[in-house]
Amino acid sequence: MKIAIDGPAGAGKSTVAQQIASELNFVYIDTGAMYRALAWATLQQGVPVDNQQEVSALLTSARIELRREEDGQHVYWNDQDITSLIRTQEVSNHASIVASYGDVRAQMLVLQRMMAESGNVVMDGRDIGTHVLPNADVKIFLTASVDERAQRRYAELIGKGNEADLEQLKQEIAERDKRDSEREVAPLRQADDAVLVDTTGLSIDQVVDKILTICKQAGEGSGIV
Ligand code: C5P
Repeated sequence: MKIAIDGPAGAGKSTVAQQIASELNFVYIDTGAMYRALAWATLQQGVPVDNQQEVSALLTSARIELRREEDGQHVYWNDQDITSLIRTQEVSNHASIVASYGDVRAQMLVLQRMMAESGNVVMDGRDIGTHVLPNADVKIFLTASVDERAQRRYAELIGKGNEADLEQLKQEIAERDKRDSEREVAPLRQADDAVLVDTTGLSIDQVVDKILTICKQAGEGSGIV
């Protein structure tokens, strides 16, 4: 069974997808982490992010892996664990640039489909329901207002003892939304057969319950969920 969860930055996709995967004992695949890994590598190796050919070649030469470990999913770039290094604001902003390149997306598509072959999966991203797994059994489009998404990110940063500027976060989220929605290749878009779940004002548990109900209805009789 394949479950696709798409939506804009900060809608809570990864938290929700991880909980769904753990409830159903499915494998969780965070496709955003793969674009983040490539963005991190361009920064680390000084590859100009606006040079599509070089960025794409960097991806071709490397191996990205998502490994399931005791404390959750870890991201590896050529065997280096970069899990905690890819969550900075700089990497977020670069990720949506490298993700706009057709050559990069074509390579990621192959990798992501291979990963999904592993069995029952919950995959989250921007184009899972529309491109990566068009035949997914369940497609969810998770969203929330820009204000709420910025507030959540703000609370997360402050909670971790970091400094944060709410207005700047709002602006960055809106910019990422725009870049993700307006790019030519596989833009952020709700699949025609996806269920829209607006998480504004809902708790994580409420969202997880809602999606689990949808998954159980879709998998009824299959013995999988
Ligand atoms: O989901 P996350 O914020 O970690 O994703 C980082 C960036 O990767 C997004 O802003 C988006 O540009 C890109 N992305 C994508 N397609 C996906 C997953 C992520 O374009 N399937």
